[in-house]
Amino acid sequence: MESYNSLLTKQQSFFRKEKTKNIAFRLEALQKLRSAIKTNEKVLMEALRADLNKSEFDAYTSEIGFVLEELRFTIKQLRSWARPKKVKTPVTHIGSRSYIYSEPYGVALIIAPWNYPFQLAIAPLIGAIAAGNCAVIKPSELTPKTSELLGKLIHDLFPEEYISVVQGGVETSQALLNEKFDYIFFTGSVPVGKVIMEAAAKNLTPLTLELGGKSPCIVHKDANLKLAAKRIAWGKFTNAGQTCIAPDYLYVHQSIKDQFLQQFKEATIALYGKQPLKNSDFTKIVSDRHFRRLCSFLDNGKIYMGGGVNQDKLTIEPTVLTNITWEDPIMMDEIFGPILPVLEFNVLSEVLVGIHRHPKPLALYIFTENEAVQQEVLHSVSFGGGCVNDTVYHFVSPYLPFGGVGNSGIGAYHGKGNFETFSHQKSVLKQTTLFDIPFRYPNVKNGLKKI
Ligand code: NAD
Repeated sequence: MESYNSLLTKQQSFFRKEKTKNIAFRLEALQKLRSAIKTNEKVLMEALRADLNKSEFDAYTSEIGFVLEELRFTIKQLRSWARPKKVKTPVTHIGSRSYIYSEPYGVALIIAPWNYPFQLAIAPLIGAIAAGNCAVIKPSELTPKTSELLGKLIHDLFPEEYISVVQGGVETSQALLNEKFDYIFFTGSVPVGKVIMEAAAKNLTPLTLELGGKSPCIVHKDANLKLAAKRIAWGKFTNAGQTCIAPDYLYVHQSIKDQFLQQFKEATIALYGKQPLKNSDFTKIVSDRHFRRLCSFLDNGKIYMGGGVNQDKLTIEPTVLTNITWEDPIMMDEIFGPILPVLEFNVLSEVLVGIHRHPKPLALYIFTENEAVQQEVLHSVSFGGGCVNDTVYHFVSPYLPFGGVGNSGIGAYHGKGNFETFSHQKSVLKQTTLFDIPFRYPNVKNGLKKI
């Protein structure tokens, strides 16, 4: 197994030079990154097309544009985030003042997945740079064109002792994890998340885990069905369902199920056409293995719409499966593809019991006009984040920290949360030397002592 000890040592000594702690240095790095991304927009789109058949629209909105917006927001706010914060001091500490300093951890390791291969490697890098860290990125081996371009872009922009990209698969990832990084930021699956946490535990390295899971989407009887259909079809089928926060399965109220599914079919046709497999802009499944795994679900329940596949192009039609129960194989694990199983319910408590029997989801979506129903779901279910009457959109607000809870992850990022994730909050009490309050000392009951 290759060793990355010399790369880490180089980054550690660069970090100790303290250049990255300078705010002007960080801002310059972020600006350089921003202009390089702008210059490379076209080649990035080509790489994303080659790896996943992402359309230009999808590549821009969900990868390049997202990252540019995160950069714009971070560059604007960084000076204020990085300033030491004065906080209150209790009366017992009279004479002193209290501050919180945000300091970089040191050298961060960022391990990224393949589904948004550019965004999910660069967005955490923005946080790492903003907070003043050095970083090593290990992008996904399943999207080779994008990962290669990412490596070239970073190589042309920054010296490797500051930011570096290491290409490779599982073995490379494990070799990197053998080193003692100061922070680990991992995005990927739940089983691999456990491997990462075990490796981090050996060195007590703090970490963020952005994982996945089965995110429920509930459509209640009083929902605006037309809008719900459109917003769910978009959230589910964008990137061919290969989105960590895509609605994984639907819980639809029995009384509106038929009406809703009809609207859903129409909404999907409006988005992807009557013959989505012939739509040259429909994202493909990343690999043959994932394609075969997804195809194996197509005989679960009953196909309500879709079900067609193209093995040569690794594409699967937007598909809805009805007559599904929690015992079907498709309900065992995160689907991560354009197949939507539908469960029915009569009373909300059935939904809550069903969700509570499973690990805490990364996202949850509830469509209803009824405020009491919204409150009941938000109050009862623990989930990473989500939306009322929408899907996926919470992800793109820089004011909403994004992350999971329980099995769906640890920690959160985006916007200020990104800066905070990569910063240690150092609490400092600045004490006066003008006087000394004696009551904390053990000999206080024998009389007050002068300094
Ligand atoms: P993955 O866990 O298989 O791989 C992620 C990264 O870990 C890759 O870079 C891979 O090379 C590396 N890796 C794989 N096995 C490893 C091992 N045994 N030891 C060390 N490193 C290893 O995930 P994926 O298939 O690339 O991505 C899909 C998963 O990621 C889904 O579960 C999805 O929900 C999740 N995801 C989560 C988010 C989020 O923000 N929470 C975003 C995107 C994807």
